[in-house]
Amino acid sequence: MFPVLEPFEIERVRRFGKVRSYDDAAALVKVGQVGPGLAIILTGQVEVARRDELGHSTPIVTHGPGSFMGELAQLAGRPALIDAHAREPVQALIISPDQLRALLIAEAELGERIMRALILRRVGLLETGAGGPVIVGHPGNGDVLRLEGFLRRNGHPRQTLDPDTDSEAKALIERFHIDPGQLPIVLCPGGQLLRNPSERELARCIGLVRPIDPTRVYDVAIVGAGPAGLATAVYAGSEGLSVLVLDCRAFGGQAGASARIENYLGFPTGITGIALMARAYNQAQKFGVEIAIPDEVTGLDAEDDLAPRRVVLRMSNNERVSARSLVIASGARYRRLSIPNLEAFEGASVHYWASPLEAKLCAGQEVALVGAGNSAGQAAVYLANQAVKVWLLVRGDDLAASMSRYLVDRIRGLPNVEVLTRTSVTGLEGHDGMLEAIRWRRGASREEVRRPIQHLFLFIGAEPNTDWLSGSGVALDAKGFVLTDADTTNKLRPLETSRGGVFAIGDVRSGSVKRVAAAVGEGAQVVATLHAYLATAERNPAVLTSTAIR
Ligand SMILES: Cc1cc2nc3c(=O)[nH]c(=O)nc-3n(C[C@H](O)[C@H](O)[C@H](O)COP(=O)(O)OP(=O)(O)OC[C@H]3O[C@@H](n4cnc5c(N)ncnc54)[C@H](O)[C@@H]3O)c2cc1C
Repeated sequence: MFPVLEPFEIERVRRFGKVRSYDDAAALVKVGQVGPGLAIILTGQVEVARRDELGHSTPIVTHGPGSFMGELAQLAGRPALIDAHAREPVQALIISPDQLRALLIAEAELGERIMRALILRRVGLLETGAGGPVIVGHPGNGDVLRLEGFLRRNGHPRQTLDPDTDSEAKALIERFHIDPGQLPIVLCPGGQLLRNPSERELARCIGLVRPIDPTRVYDVAIVGAGPAGLATAVYAGSEGLSVLVLDCRAFGGQAGASARIENYLGFPTGITGIALMARAYNQAQKFGVEIAIPDEVTGLDAEDDLAPRRVVLRMSNNERVSARSLVIASGARYRRLSIPNLEAFEGASVHYWASPLEAKLCAGQEVALVGAGNSAGQAAVYLANQAVKVWLLVRGDDLAASMSRYLVDRIRGLPNVEVLTRTSVTGLEGHDGMLEAIRWRRGASREEVRRPIQHLFLFIGAEPNTDWLSGSGVALDAKGFVLTDADTTNKLRPLETSRGGVFAIGDVRSGSVKRVAAAVGEGAQVVATLHAYLATAERNPAVLTSTAIR
């Protein structure tokens, strides 16, 4: 976490920075403020400390000559999470965020050591919550969970204080005269107080999201920072394109919500979705990709005859983004049952995926599975190996209407799978996120069946995130997924939609394989197509409209 650079290594990286002098006690950075960048200490000592919500300072480390001060905030040019002060007169080589990214790419071995230290330091801050906002509210409260979830998914440190048990929480409530009904409150590192903020308000307060330059025209704008969008960002950024990624929630998309991805190449023991996606997110930043989270895209302007080389995106905060090309990677969300307390059980008892992990959870138990498509059938067959009984709940009259024959036959041959047609789930019972019983009703019967079941699997299809494309001229299939190349009648380029210069990849694409690896592969593939498109556009702007391509 705290490597010391040799004098010859410092000489090699001098070209990336500028030497600055600091008097004893001068601040190099302060919590909540954007600092000048990474500081390699040439002479003197710099003390790094974390500051808590009441202003107390706790030392973390003292950097001496050859050591460097910085963590991921210095890579991204975001507000600092720590205070750093000179402990005697200091000379430091200051490397600005864009020069730091250049260094990481140009100096592979040294770059790896620096990048590793930046990541480990962020992990350390995440473990202690240092430098992040403080949420004051009751654990288990929906808004507290929402804010905690947002910060956790975005790899940002945080602390939560319970006003019933924590004396500092009580002190904060008294200091700011907060009525219990106004909880949760959030205290940002810069000292601002927010009352039950939206994710965007919180992100703005802690410097996660910044205004987008309205005059800039990016080579490519990417909607969605799931595996498909991040893969595009990494390949496009590393190949010199200017890239902006927009996501309305968090990096990682659905994959970021996966407790353990077991089938991604190269991870034989599996990897949590958030860990895999955090690596991709940091990698994209290393290549200078701009990432705006949370920033929701609400619309894509129709093609403009006067500016055929541009796509213009509308944002929920009224900002606009211009780019020469667009990659739609907005993914899909698994359809959910409309049961009021479903969300309460989604962490531990309601599953949208049947991997070995879930199968292990259900070993020797009864499970319920809702769905009638092939994915439901495959999951039922798979779970039947582990579960003592699988109740397959089907809304329609006949499984064969929506499931392949071979699966229907296989299910019929399994003694521990019972298919209940014309059946709907009517209620879920349990405590603390753990399901204890499921209620369902069959056909017109008024009688509700209640069974003690702790795991519910939902395979009722996925809905594409394509509402924002309405009116844009991008063709969708009957279920709302984006049509590309072979599906559209007039396209020549792989992964291109019915609109020239607009591409679609990953789960949002009609006919795509809904897997992390497939999304990443399409992200890599689309960049080759983007190069070809942008090169053609450069030579001959007239070929850019879809009709002209034809
Ligand atoms: C719980 C779970 C576990 C899974 N486990 C596995 C597994 O083990 N192995 C495997 O291979 N696959 C797994 N999958 C499937 C895999 O996660 C998906 O196939 C993959 O994430 C698709 O990637 P994507 O980038 O295309 O879309 P997504 O991951 O859906 O990402 C799309 C992103 O776009 C953003 N977005 C949407 N609309 C907008 C908008 N208007 N403006 C801005 N941003 C927007 C969303 O916030 C999201 O972050 C799992 C899925 C789930 C839900």
